[in-house]
This record gives sequence, C-alpha cells and structure tokens, in this order.
Amino acid sequence: MKHRISAGLHWLLLARRGRAARCARAAAGQPTDLDDRMMNRAIALAEQAAARGEVPIGAVVYGSPGTADEGRIYAEAFNRREELRDPSQHAEFTAIVGAARQLGDWRLNHCSLAVTLEPCPMCAGLIINSRVGRVIYGADDPKAGAVRSLYALLGDRRLNHRPVVIPHVREEPCSRLLSSFFARLRERRRERSGNA
Ligand SMILES: [Zn+2]
Repeated sequence: MKHRISAGLHWLLLARRGRAARCARAAAGQPTDLDDRMMNRAIALAEQAAARGEVPIGAVVYGSPGTADEGRIYAEAFNRREELRDPSQHAEFTAIVGAARQLGDWRLNHCSLAVTLEPCPMCAGLIINSRVGRVIYGADDPKAGAVRSLYALLGDRRLNHRPVVIPHVREEPCSRLLSSFFARLRERRRERSGNA
C-alpha cells in the first residue's frame, strides 16, 4: 500500500515537473511538443489550400500550454482568398475570428496561434486586437511579414498587447509548401504563354 502511494506520488510529481517544464519552455519562447503538433496540423491545412489552388497557408488557434484548456482546438482555417474573393480570408484571420465566436469572447489571452507563414499587417493587427497570448509561426514572409521581416508590430511597446512570438517552427516544410506552389504557378503560366 505504502509502495503504491509513493509510486502514485512519484508519477504526480513527474507529471507536475513535466507541466512545469512545458510552461517554462512556453514562457521562454520555445515551442512545446503541443506547438509542434499544432504546427503540423496547420501544415496539413495549408496543403488543403494548395489542393484548391490557394496560396498554401494554414492556421490553428488552441488553448496555450499551462492553461486549463491546454491543447483544445478552438478554430482552424486555411487561406481561401481566391475562392471567397475576400481579402480578409487569410488563414490566421479566419481562425482567430472563428475562435472568438467559439469562445463567445473576443479576448484570446489564453490562446496560442500556430500559422505556417509570418502574419501580415492585417493579421498582426487582429492578433493585437484579440490579445492572442502566443504566436507560433513557420516561415518568414520577406514581402509582407509584420512580425519581424518588414515590421515588428507584435513587439511594439507603444501598443497595448505584446504576445510571445516563436518564429521558425517547422520552417522547412512551411516554406517548401509555398515555394513549390509558386514554382508550379510559374510553370503553368509559362505553359499558357507558350501555347498562346
Ligand atoms: Zn494576413
């Protein structure tokens, strides 16, 4: 009996230690295993976008590590700008709006966002306005990135919210998806102009 209690206590302590380590990693701006899993999910969503002829970007909003709803998915989306002819249909924009609807609250402080590409100024603006607690992204966007490439909106001290930012999580597959999509697009355009 005594052994069973001490074994139970041992596992409880190990679980607590694991949770503390995950929280410490999350606070230090390191991706946790959960963040990696969510980024894989975002990559799968980006692949769905590519299959529909959309620029392959995917996003997931979920309960942050160390919160009561750790790992719970509130919303996920992929880029559907062409299909819906709507300039606000960026993956992370749709996922954040979806998460706020799901939660019945516009404040998403306890949520993390995993998105395959560095958010643009529009999406960075929404991240600030929705108080998303953590932003995990894959590839930098040198043409429109508003987290570190062109602007650093999420770290601007003049604004009233600065989320934890973890760049370059699963960067290689995220950028490969984009580069092969644009390579195929250029190839198709060349074929079309060749046939004309
Ligand atoms: Zn955007």
